[in-house]
Amino acid sequence: MSIYLDNAATTPLSSEVFTKMEPFLFNSFANPSSTHTAGRNARYAVELSRKIIAENLNTTADHIFFTSGGTEGDNMAILSAIHANKIKVVITSRLEHHAVLNTLRKAENDGLILIKYLDNDAQGRISLTQLNSLLDGTDQVLISLMHANNEIANLNPLEEIADLAEHYGAIFHSDTVQSIGHYHYDTRLLCPDYLVGSAHKFHGPKGVGFLYAKQPESLKSIINGGSQERGKRAGTENVSGIVGAAAAIQDIYQNQAEHESYLKSLKLALINGLSALPEITFNGESANINESLSTVLSVSFPQSLTEFNLLETLDAAGIYASGGSACSGNSSSHVISSLSALSNKNTIRFSFSKYNTISEIEKVITVVKNYFQPLYNQSNLQSA
Ligand code: PLP
Repeated sequence: MSIYLDNAATTPLSSEVFTKMEPFLFNSFANPSSTHTAGRNARYAVELSRKIIAENLNTTADHIFFTSGGTEGDNMAILSAIHANKIKVVITSRLEHHAVLNTLRKAENDGLILIKYLDNDAQGRISLTQLNSLLDGTDQVLISLMHANNEIANLNPLEEIADLAEHYGAIFHSDTVQSIGHYHYDTRLLCPDYLVGSAHKFHGPKGVGFLYAKQPESLKSIINGGSQERGKRAGTENVSGIVGAAAAIQDIYQNQAEHESYLKSLKLALINGLSALPEITFNGESANINESLSTVLSVSFPQSLTEFNLLETLDAAGIYASGGSACSGNSSSHVISSLSALSNKNTIRFSFSKYNTISEIEKVITVVKNYFQPLYNQSNLQSA
């Protein structure tokens, strides 16, 4: 049996979620824009799903727009904010996902905005003091800062950032793709203007997500076509996917406390097991068990090991982890590079879900230790 520890890339679909989706793939397959009874039934399912997602964010259905996932949600939020608020400056960090960074870079190349990057320290932490001074005296600003980092599990203080945004009249978009389901968002309290969700990150289906917009009228359509999603997102709705997204969010929030403490116990077991190896470093805040995203642990192995093919060794043992963000493929991680000048080739991201077990983590620790023992002997490193 394989061991899947790449849940930040995508999570397995839950069978309960699939059971709710299935009727909309077969019997109730009609187009929700059709006016006949079958179409109206599909429409009802879409609107009920919107309501479920809205309730989980303490908002109303008119603030929720369905998308094809996190990338589209980030693009739509950023481009809408720039357009609707005549944004001239965007403050962001170098640790954002490419869905954000590449959207901003294109907007800058198109002459729409100027990007200002916040500095980060070697742990990947940004400074609110610097954010405050960048905001002070600058008008027409968008802040785009993620909640939870997909590679190093750092958490940005969303409420404090929302507070600063409100104080300076800035717009705030947060890429919440990794954190939806793990943290509660009360959109009636201090909260970003845009939040982004992607169902496949919390045991829903791939290719479907949603965007929360505090001001729905600010949204600009980035896909041309029909009038679906109140004219903001053209294209026939992915009905079964939308039903799956709602079922998955409902499920993850209903069992959130239990879920989080289980994920933390898995992460702690891996931290404890790997800490026994010499020259191991945990990147960012990922080993700070109470101050990081529970699903992600980023580990760097000794830079002095010239031969490093642990990922392949794990793969051969049926253990699936990753070198960084799945979207970056084989290229080195811009997030790890932003932390230090050292090469990041010896970094592995392990990411967990409720379907992992302690015995799987123990097996991973054994495989890693067995891999390192001969290498440590060769390179005169002291094994603990
Ligand atoms: N933002 C973050 C932080 C992510 O981790 C991802 C996916 O890995 C995305 C955005 C893109 O989401 P999607 O794969 O649904 O397009």
